[in-house]
Amino acid sequence: MQKESSFPELAVLRETFESGVTRDLPWRRSQLLALETFLLDREKEIAAAVHDDFRKSEAETFLTETGYLRGEIRFALKHLKSWMKPLRVSIPLIYQPAKGSCYHEPYGVVLIIGAWNYPINLSLAPLVSALAAGNCAVIKPSELAPHSSALIAEGLGRYLDRSAVRVIEGGAEVAKALLAERFGYIFYTGSLAIGREVMLAAAKHLTPLTLELGGKCPCIVEESSDLRVAARRIVWAKFLNGGQTCLAPDYVLVNEKREAELLRYMQEAITDFYGDDPRLSPDYPRIVTMDHFMRVEKLLDGSSVWSGGGCDQAERYIAPTILRGVTPASPVMQSEIFAPLLPVIAYSDLADALEIIRNGKEPLALYLFSSDRAVQERVVRHSRSGGVCINDLLFQAALHNLPFGGLGHSGFGAYHGKAGFDTFSFQRTLMHRSLYPDPDLRYPPYSSTKFGL
Ligand code: NAD
Repeated sequence: MQKESSFPELAVLRETFESGVTRDLPWRRSQLLALETFLLDREKEIAAAVHDDFRKSEAETFLTETGYLRGEIRFALKHLKSWMKPLRVSIPLIYQPAKGSCYHEPYGVVLIIGAWNYPINLSLAPLVSALAAGNCAVIKPSELAPHSSALIAEGLGRYLDRSAVRVIEGGAEVAKALLAERFGYIFYTGSLAIGREVMLAAAKHLTPLTLELGGKCPCIVEESSDLRVAARRIVWAKFLNGGQTCLAPDYVLVNEKREAELLRYMQEAITDFYGDDPRLSPDYPRIVTMDHFMRVEKLLDGSSVWSGGGCDQAERYIAPTILRGVTPASPVMQSEIFAPLLPVIAYSDLADALEIIRNGKEPLALYLFSSDRAVQERVVRHSRSGGVCINDLLFQAALHNLPFGGLGHSGFGAYHGKAGFDTFSFQRTLMHRSLYPDPDLRYPPYSSTKFGL
C-alpha cells in the first residue's frame, strides 16, 4: 500500500498539472501577471517584513528583491512565447522523409527551497522561471526570515492559482518531509552542507535538481585599477544586506604596493555610506539570528581588525569591518564569512593571488579590478568560478539575460531569464517519420556487404 503523504495539498497540485492547464501560454502569463500585481500591491508590506527580519532598508529591498523580480517577470512575459517554441532540427537525407523537433515540457510539480538572506527574491525568482515553464510549484521559504515567509505564504495564496502554487512554511523538519515526496524538479538555494543533504534526498526519487550554494568569492584589486572607484564598489557590495550575500566579495587580494591606498579609500567609503557610527544608519542591516551573530563574533575575536570591529549583541549589530594581516591559513579564510567582515590580503605577484584562489573551492563569483586587458584575460583564463565581473561586483547576477549559477562547490545549474525557463523545462525530443519507403538495409540478416564492413 502507498504511504499517505504528509502534504495533502500535493495531490491537488498534481491533479492540476495532469489537467494540462498549466501548459498553456495564457495560464503561464496570467500567473506571472498575478505575481507582478502581488509585488506592486504589497511593495510597502514586503519592505516592512524584510525590515522586521533583519533591518534591511526599503531602498535595498527594492534594489535587490522587488525591483529585480519585477524586471525578471517583465523579461519573461516579453520572451515567453519565443522561449516556448519547439526547436526544429534538420534531418539528414538518409532518415528522410521525417521531421525532428525538441519541445520544452514542464517537469510537473516542482519544489523550491529558499534561503533567508534575500527572502523574497530567492523564493520568487525561481518561481518566475517555474511558472514560465508551465509547472506547478511548492515553495518552502526560509524559517530564519519569518516575516517574509509569512507574507509570501499569505500573498501568494491570495494572488496566484492556489490549485497550482502552494507555500509550505517551516524549518529543516518540514524541508526534510517535503524532500521525502516525489517532485518533478528540486530547486535549492542555501549552504553547501544542506545542499549535500538535498542532493541525497533527490537521489532517492532520481529527481533532477539545481543547487544554488555559496562560497568564498575573491576580489582581486590589481595595481592598474582606479582605487577610489574600486573601493566604493567593493564596500557597497560587501556591506549590502549586512554582508550576508552569497555573491559578496568574501575577501580582497590587493597588490602590496597599493594596499595602504585601497584601505584608506575603503574606510572613506564606509564613512560616506554609513556615517561615523554605522549602528545609527537606517541603511545598515543586522545579523539575521543570534546563532549567526555568535559565529561572526567568534571569527572577529580571532582576527586582526584594521577598522570597525564594533558589536552589539542586543541588536545583533556587527560594524562594517576590515581585517588586515590575514593569510590563507587564518580562521576567517577557512569558510564562507557571510557577514560584514572583509579580510584584505596583500600579494606581491598576481600569480600568488591566483594560486590562493585556485587552492580554495570554486566560488560562485570572481571579481577583478584592473584596467589592463592582458591582466583581465589572464585572471579569467587561470581561474574558475560560477561567474566573473570585471571592474564591478554583483551586477553579473542582476541581468535577466545572463545565466546565474555556481560551479563545483558553489553548486550547479543556473536560472534568471531564459536560463531559468530552460532549468524548469524538460527537453522532450520528437521525431516524426514517414512509414515509406521501408528498405531492407536495417533489418537482419546482416550480410557482410550491407554496411560495407
Ligand atoms: P541553509 O542551507 O541553512 O537553509 C536554506 C534552506 O534550507 C532553508 O529554507 C532551510 O529551512 C532549508 N533546510 C534546512 N535544513 C534542511 C535540511 N536538512 N534539508 C533540506 N532543507 C533544509 O542556508 P541559509 O543560511 O538560509 O543561507 C545561507 C547560505 O546560502 C550561504 O551559504 C549562501 O552563500 C547561500 N546562498 C546561495 C545563493 C545562490 O544563489 N547561490 C543565494 C543566497 C544564499
